[in-house]
Formats: sequence, C-alpha cells, structure tokens
Amino acid sequence: MAEGCTLYILRQIGSKSVSANSLTFSSHRERVSEMEDSQFDVIIVGAGVMGSATAYNAAKRGLRTLLLEQFDFLHHRASSHGESRTIRVTYPQKYYYPLVMESYKLWQEAQDQVGYQVYFKAPHLDMAPSDEQPTIRAVVDYCQTHAIPFQLLRRRQLAEKFAGSIDIPKGWVGVSNEYGGILKPTKAVAMFQTLAFKNGAVMLDNAKVVDIKKTRGDEGVEVFTASGKKFRGKKCVVTVGAWATRLVKTVSGIELPIVPLETHVCYWRIKEGQEGKFALGTGFPTFACFGDPYIYGTPTLEFPGLIKVGVHGGNPCDPDKRPWGPAVWMEELKKWVEERFMGMVDSSEPVIKQSCMYSMTPDEDFVIDFLGGEFGKDVVIGGGFSGHGFKMAPVIGRILTELAADGEAKGVDLKYFRIGRFKIPSKI
Ligand SMILES: Cc1cc2nc3c(=O)[nH]c(=O)nc-3n(C[C@H](O)[C@H](O)[C@H](O)COP(=O)(O)OP(=O)(O)OC[C@H]3O[C@@H](n4cnc5c(N)ncnc54)[C@H](O)[C@@H]3O)c2cc1C
Repeated sequence: MAEGCTLYILRQIGSKSVSANSLTFSSHRERVSEMEDSQFDVIIVGAGVMGSATAYNAAKRGLRTLLLEQFDFLHHRASSHGESRTIRVTYPQKYYYPLVMESYKLWQEAQDQVGYQVYFKAPHLDMAPSDEQPTIRAVVDYCQTHAIPFQLLRRRQLAEKFAGSIDIPKGWVGVSNEYGGILKPTKAVAMFQTLAFKNGAVMLDNAKVVDIKKTRGDEGVEVFTASGKKFRGKKCVVTVGAWATRLVKTVSGIELPIVPLETHVCYWRIKEGQEGKFALGTGFPTFACFGDPYIYGTPTLEFPGLIKVGVHGGNPCDPDKRPWGPAVWMEELKKWVEERFMGMVDSSEPVIKQSCMYSMTPDEDFVIDFLGGEFGKDVVIGGGFSGHGFKMAPVIGRILTELAADGEAKGVDLKYFRIGRFKIPSKI
C-alpha cells in the first residue's frame, strides 16, 4: 500500500506550493521522499489519542514533528475510536489526581482552540457492594485527601439523588461527586490531529514502523517503515497501544508485560417512556461499579434511546489477528442492567456491541519512560494505558513531549510509571 494520507502531509514539507489538483500519486510520493530527507525534532509512532496529543504538544512548542500511523488515521482497529469515554476524578491511587485535574483544564483549552466540543460534563457515581470494599474505601479517602466534595449514599439516598434511575441492593454504597463527564474519542483524536497540523506537524498514515535504530555516530534515531522508508529524528516517542510489547521487543529486545485484551462497548435499549431518566444533562451520572466484574457506563449521549454499560475486562488477543470474539461476562452484565435499572432498560441483549482493545499492565498503571539501553533518552515510551488512559491524554501528550524535548517532565512523579517496576533486566 502507498504510504500516506494525502491532505495531512501537505504542510511544512519543502517550499513548493501545492494545489488540490496536484494531489496525484506521484506528487504524493515526491513529498514522502522530501520527508525522508528532513531531520525531525521528534518522530511519534502511533496516532491513537496519545500519539496525536503528543504531536499536538510537540508541534505547539515549535518542534519539527512527524506523526506516523500504521493504518488510516481515525481507524477503528485499536483503542482510541468510538463515541464515548468516561472522565472522572476519583481513583483509588492518589497519584492520578494531578493528572486528571490538569487534563480537565487541557481538554477545555484544546476544544476552545479547535472550536467544537469533545468534553460533556456530568456527575460521577462510584458504587460497591459494601463500604468496606477496598476500592470504595480508597475512593472516599482520595476525596477527603484532595478536598473533593462528595456524598456517601446508601440505597434510599442514592435512589433519591438520581431520581429513581439506579437501584443498589441493601448494604451497597455509592460515592457521588461532580467531577465526571463524557469525552468523544474519535472526535478528540481528530481534534488533536487537526491542532497538530495547524501547528505545523507532518502526518503520515498507512506507514507501519518496523524498526527504530540509533543513528550511527550521531545523536538521534532512524525510524524505518514496512515499505522501506527511513525517517530521521532527534527523538522518538512510541505510542503504539496494543502493539507496544511487539515493537519494543523488536527495537530493543526488552519484553514489556503489556498484554492486549479485546473488550467490548455495549449499548442497551432504554424502554419507551424512560429515556429521559438516563440522558446527559438530567443529572444521570457516569458510573463505575466495583463488583465482580467491574462494570462502567455513561449517560445517553451518542445514540438517543440507548445507554452504554460495559465490563472492564476482556480476552487476551493478538492485535494483528483480532478474534473479533464475543464479549466477556455477558450474563453478569445482563443481570446488572436488569437489576440496577429496575427493568427500565431492555437487558435481553445489547443492541450495539463495539470491539476495542485494552493494553494491560500487571498493575494497571501506565508505562511512561525512556526506553534506555543504547537509546538512552532518545526514545520515549507511552503505553500500557490499561483501559483508563483516555481521560488523561492531553496531559500524557504534554509529559511525553517534555520527556522527549527536555529529558524530564513537570508535575508528574514518574516512579509509578517506570519500566523498571516490572523488574525487566535493563540493558543500560
Ligand atoms: C472499550 C474501551 C473503553 C474505554 N473506556 C475508557 C474510559 O471510559 N475512560 C478512559 O480514560 N479510558 C478508557 N479507555 C482506554 C483508552 O481508550 C485508551 O487508554 C487509549 O485510547 C489508549 O490510546 P493509545 O494512543 O495508547 O493507543 P491506541 O489508540 O491503540 O493507538 C495506538 C496507535 O498506534 C498505531 N500503531 C501500532 N503499531 C504501529 C506501528 N508499528 N507503526 C505505526 N503505528 C502503529 C495503532 O494502529 C494505533 O492507531 C477505554 C478503552 C476501550 C478499548
């Protein structure tokens, strides 16, 4: 396949002006060769939300930025596509607090710049089978530590607060706060790519990176694609989602314990007359239920009359040979939908199932680090976002850019995200 998405790459490459009529195959090829002759400050591999947010941050700083993607831009074969992701501030681990809080601000800034909305505000509700359940206890502790106003709700209080839309069994608890919301994933990735382009980034899709090598006798790296192209960069940021373990092993021999899982987003039909209870803007929350399995969902937004409820989990998969298999825990999910929504949502079968991949680390914390070894600080990895990274993409983009450009990142304690925590033998 020919490399490159035509329109995106027209900026910044060479001095020739290009008219729409000249978008022929050969002129496109010419431009790719010009890119091969250029030296970039940073080459970003993988144009999911993390790579696209990084490209935006890097270009905004004035760095000569190249973003490479193995498939079409905005494809649906990885982790960053679809119609909704939850953003919430509550986490059992306190070190996510500054990252999420900064992200709220950065989502707002980015959507202001692009001129359309990707973030929709909603309250958030965490639920658990008892107030002794460790995750809900950690969430309460987290809210207290960070002075986040919250309500601890028993069954009747919760029914009152959410106008009879959600029922929890006796003995269960809910913790609600105002810091929830929905992000529009495909639209958000398009937003970062648009802003990256506007700030001068060069972007190329259908460009699968097969190797990254240290430039011989010089600073920087050479990035090689499947079709034999070579691009030169002072630094490289690898944000390849479910392909992280594979690519990093090829490049460095290091085997990261990042496991791709195939998971599903499920949409359920709300019974006629009840739709208003579950709609965004009515007070219905984004939610997470820390039971077995862990279940999450968002208010109705993208598909009127449907509500998204899914399971946080899936089956391990090979990202290059996707099984496109059935969703996990379906019987438990149906029971949950039936009982928690008191028969107001048809629980017989989801009406839409969308397949997606998680990139799981053993502790579900991210991987944000230098690759090290012969690459030292020239190659930065952002991966293992373990099914909860989307909300933090704007801040991850800032951090990865700073690591690449400055060798350190402000406002984040990377010790939770280092490769070294996996006790992988270092090549340094
Ligand atoms: C169903 C589902 C629900 C989720 N819900 C939430 C949520 O509610 N809240 C939340 O915060 N997060 C959520 N997440 C997690 C979030 O979506 C991910 O953490 C995030 O999208 C990961 O982005 P990424 O850029 O790391 O990976 P990806 O989106 O997978 O992007 C990696 C890109 O790299 C490309 N690539 C791979 N190899 C190469 C190569 N060799 N050369 C060039 N390109 C390459 C891939 O094609 C891909 O486009 C959810 C994820 C899923 C799947």
